[in-house]
Amino acid sequence: MSVPEPELDELYRELILDHYRNPRNRVPLESPAVVAEGYNPLCGDEVELRLNVEGNVISDVSFTGRGCSISQASGSMLTEAVKGKTVAQARALIALFTRMMTDPDFVPEEDVGDLEALQGVAKYPVRVKCATLAWHALQDGLDRHDGAA
Ligand code: ZN
Repeated sequence: MSVPEPELDELYRELILDHYRNPRNRVPLESPAVVAEGYNPLCGDEVELRLNVEGNVISDVSFTGRGCSISQASGSMLTEAVKGKTVAQARALIALFTRMMTDPDFVPEEDVGDLEALQGVAKYPVRVKCATLAWHALQDGLDRHDGAA
C-alpha cells in the first residue's frame, strides 16, 4: 500500500469537512422536475436531490440529507459539479466519479474540482457506498426524467 502525501490528505479532509458543515445548494427546490432519494443502510446515510431541467440542461439542483461526512460532502460537491451542465455531461461525470471510487489508481485527466478530495475514499471499499450514494440517486433521477420525456 502506498503512503499518500500527508499534506494533501489534510487538505482533502478539510475540504470534505467544509462541504459537510456548509453544504452547498441546500435549500430544497420548489416544484422540481426531478426528485431522487437514496439510502445507504450500511451507514444510515440519507440523501435527497431535487433538479430543475430546462431543455437538456440541469438549471438548478438542491441537496438535503443526513449521515456521515463523506456522504453529505459528496452530495454537496455533486450539486456544484452538475449545476448548469447538460444531462449528458452529468451522466459522463457520474461515470467518471464512479470510476474514481472503484479504481484507487485512476487519476482523471479532467479537472474534477472539489471531487478530487474524495479520491482517497476509493481505498476504503466500505466507505465507497457513502461517497457514491448521491451519484446513484442522480443517475436514477436522470433515468426517470429521460424515461418520462
Ligand atoms: Zn456514510
